[in-house]
Amino acid sequence: MSDGKGCNCEARDSSECGCDADWTPQEVYDLRARVKEKDVRIAALEAENEENRKVIQVAANKLEIMGKSRDELEADKARLEGEVKRQDEHKVWLIAQLKEKDKKIELSKKFFDRHKEFVALQAQLQQYKDVMGKVREVLSKHALYLEELTPDVASDALDLLNSLEKSDE
Ligand SMILES: [Zn+2]
Repeated sequence: MSDGKGCNCEARDSSECGCDADWTPQEVYDLRARVKEKDVRIAALEAENEENRKVIQVAANKLEIMGKSRDELEADKARLEGEVKRQDEHKVWLIAQLKEKDKKIELSKKFFDRHKEFVALQAQLQQYKDVMGKVREVLSKHALYLEELTPDVASDALDLLNSLEKSDE
């Protein structure tokens, strides 16, 4: 009840009323109800705000962590780039070393080839000396044989033998 409805003493307002009717204006009840609704709504919004604050805090923490991670990644990247540069320099140095080694190997090969040629020539010279030794042996026998037959011819043969021995020295 409101606005003096249900008043039994025919009063015009609460000051005249003796039957203890409710003279509170309906508007006051309506406003109180609306205030209560607003309070409920405000409480709900505050709860929502609190949730949002928590979400924002979590997001801020994540951003901070991501910021730190990004800084660490930047540092890692810079470190790796430095490492790659060092490796590149080392590679250039290694290639230079390999070129030097190639040059030395090339020189060694040339020396080895020359040495083989020298050994082959020595073997040929030895063969030549062996053949000449046999030739001298045969000529000596012939000279002795000829000396017995005709001393003049034998003398020519000895001269030839001598000249051959000289050319061999
Ligand atoms: Zn009354």
